[in-house]
Amino acid sequence: MASHGDWKDETICQSSGEIHAPRYFKEFEDFAEALGKAPGELILRDVLTKEMYDRYKDEKTALGVTFDKCIKGGIDKARLGEKWNVGKVGVLFGDAECVTKYPDLMHPVIVARHGNPHLPHPPPNLEGSQLMDQSIIDEKYVISTRVRTGRSISGFPLPPSISADQRKELEGIVTGALQTLTGEMSGDYYPLAGSTTYAAKPIGIDKETEERLIKDHFLFQEPDEPMLLSWRMERDWPHARGIYHNNDKTALVWVNEEDHLRIISMQQGHDIRAVFDRFAALVRAVETACKSVGRELEISPMYGNILSCPSNCGTGLRASMMIKIPLASAQPNFKQWCADRKLQARGSSGFASGAKDDGIRDVSNVDRMGKDEVTLVNEMIKGVADLIAWEKQLEAAAK
Ligand code: ADP
Ligand code: MG
Repeated sequence: MASHGDWKDETICQSSGEIHAPRYFKEFEDFAEALGKAPGELILRDVLTKEMYDRYKDEKTALGVTFDKCIKGGIDKARLGEKWNVGKVGVLFGDAECVTKYPDLMHPVIVARHGNPHLPHPPPNLEGSQLMDQSIIDEKYVISTRVRTGRSISGFPLPPSISADQRKELEGIVTGALQTLTGEMSGDYYPLAGSTTYAAKPIGIDKETEERLIKDHFLFQEPDEPMLLSWRMERDWPHARGIYHNNDKTALVWVNEEDHLRIISMQQGHDIRAVFDRFAALVRAVETACKSVGRELEISPMYGNILSCPSNCGTGLRASMMIKIPLASAQPNFKQWCADRKLQARGSSGFASGAKDDGIRDVSNVDRMGKDEVTLVNEMIKGVADLIAWEKQLEAAAK
């Protein structure tokens, strides 16, 4: 049985392959009261009705994903309270087909999460020449710059629902594809410490190397956040998870974390043009490499990329600068200031980290859908420039 604090998953399955498709609830009434009373922002509470639940509760996608699986984390949050922070949506996709199999829930959830985006989602735009002039950003405040997206490979359930065997098969396909990358992108795959699924490195990398990669912001952390646990994305950890990176650790691909793939370009300093151009090349190279081994990506004509979390669908793009803004980040209206400019600020060590008092924030675009990649990166560039200007005003006022 899996548990963490007040949360536990008592689901009993005959085989490990079944955990991806549990029926957690019997009736809407099982959770209706808790859901109705759930405090704070929770899109699932606002959209899900008894009629909808009854229509979908006995359905499964072709890969076996139940409706219950998709809403599990939202119900956990309703029952355990806001401290069980699975995010504002309360829904994840067990596979890409969930979007079209359960449309009466999924469409309004996606539309609400993305603030009524322009649909169909526009085609990709990876033209670095269309980025804003980055010299509007005072580089003294910028530690590093990063752009990431996610990609899903057809034929596999997404991380909430994937089985151990499927995860291993996906790792094999993806690492095979990554090994065909050349030039600046060429590198190696490093399975997590203790992972036994990758033959060339049968026990994974050593723990110190793994810890250093995490500390240096290259690698994801071991899952202990509510969202990952409620949807059971920690199953079979650490097997078949890992990171591909080039020598300079400027082009990176995460395998089997919150998405099948996370594709990342990053470097020290504020040169977003260089980071974005490398990102574009890496995305194209990874997509081509996957297709060359006979695999398609899950891209919906309506919503763009389908990833595990509705909030990431569309471009999947999060462009961020790690900036030092001790005065602005301490202002009571800081969060709202960022939200007004379509920015999100995370603490200096990732989504789960409490905003530490080091004055450092990872500031990124908050939107993902209805706008193309260049537009979203430009929102980040403009927003960071404005944020640094605000920091300077506060510095001047403090003197
Ligand atoms: P993601 O949305 O990519 O999953 P997370 O919040 O989980 O992002 O963070 C993953 C890692 O990426 C963390 O170590 C985080 O500090 C790091 N990171 C994010 N943006 C930057 C940046 N601009 N420079 C350096 N590291 C970054
Ligand atoms: Mg993350």
